[in-house]
Amino acid sequence: MLLNNETVRKALDEIRALDETTTRETLTLCQIPAPSHQERKKAEYILKLFLEAGLLDVHMDEVWNVLGRWPGTGGGPTVMLAAHTDTVFPMETDVTVRKEGSRYYCPGINDDTHAVAEIMAVAKAMVKHDLHAKGDILFCANVCEEGLGDLKGVKHIFGHENDIDAFVSVDNPVTGGVVYTATGSRRYHVTFTGSGGHSFSDFGLPNPIHAMGRAIAAISEFQVLDLPKTTFNVGVVNGGTSVNTIASSASLLMDIRSDSDSELERLTEEFRRAIDQAVEDENRRWGPDQPPVKAEVEVKGIRPAGTQSPDYPIVTAAFEAARMLGIQPELRHESSTDANIPISMGIPAIAVGRGGREGGIHTTHEWFEPVEAWLGPQRDLLLVLLLAGLEGCVEPAITRPSGKPAVPAP
Ligand SMILES: [Zn+2]
Repeated sequence: MLLNNETVRKALDEIRALDETTTRETLTLCQIPAPSHQERKKAEYILKLFLEAGLLDVHMDEVWNVLGRWPGTGGGPTVMLAAHTDTVFPMETDVTVRKEGSRYYCPGINDDTHAVAEIMAVAKAMVKHDLHAKGDILFCANVCEEGLGDLKGVKHIFGHENDIDAFVSVDNPVTGGVVYTATGSRRYHVTFTGSGGHSFSDFGLPNPIHAMGRAIAAISEFQVLDLPKTTFNVGVVNGGTSVNTIASSASLLMDIRSDSDSELERLTEEFRRAIDQAVEDENRRWGPDQPPVKAEVEVKGIRPAGTQSPDYPIVTAAFEAARMLGIQPELRHESSTDANIPISMGIPAIAVGRGGREGGIHTTHEWFEPVEAWLGPQRDLLLVLLLAGLEGCVEPAITRPSGKPAVPAP
């Protein structure tokens, strides 16, 4: 039992003692603007924290993910504990921290900045008390989790040769929350173009806005499954210059989501057919002698889908770790996290909740209240030990796929 192990108890106490430091680091970090693709400054600060914590092989990769390793004693799986550095807020957003009562207000303070500070507390506690799991623990502050980032950070990590057997992202508003499914998405930008002209004197030209209207009408009739949940949405339309102009261009942004890759595939094909059909119908309406309307589809984002069972060892380990600390665990159904990428590759992965109280996620009124906030990182520590194992205490919940050599003892 982990809680009976003296070193584990010392490390848990350390995390609690570090609570004020963790809050202070959160406040420093969230005041460094870090929209997706612009996290470099924040990443450089985090790199310093990783080095100070005493992790090994600390480095920043080509896309500004910051990584550090805490070696295992051998014979266990490699577990990555991650939090993301980017926020949804543009560079010019005011990120000055404001305190009201016991709440700190700052855009991005929780999601996912507080989680970055939390995993640092885990690292410091393991280093200080020389607590090694059986497997290596890889600490990672990764870039580009949010919408426009399109999971670039984790795609980079798992797209390269890596030795990661399980992945835990700390990225949920509910401390005991466990996200275990990966909703995939496809995002497209479609531009309809035509010659354009005067609405009266050039009447008879195929019209890009009309073509787009035909496409949206067809899209709105798409049929989808309740399970696996599959959705579609035209979220933004643009185009036209004036009421008496036949527009020369119009565009739409389309979002398709599903827990099933095959449903994503099917709906994407239906979507492309709807666009082609709309263009064909609009051009036929005005005859072959007119300059035709065309449509161009641009891919804006691809997040793969994947499902895991709620009784997978990584999920039950997260429940066990929470219960050891008296935290109520719960399955959450947030759509998409950094765990999507490993899940889609068959690597066990989850996202778990941050410590403390929080609200206003993805708004400029985002707030954090450090109430028993140490429970988050304490749970993270117990979770990585359960997954990677602890010599003489617990066997790893994650088994290394056969054929993979065990990490030699340091
Ligand atoms: Zn997040």
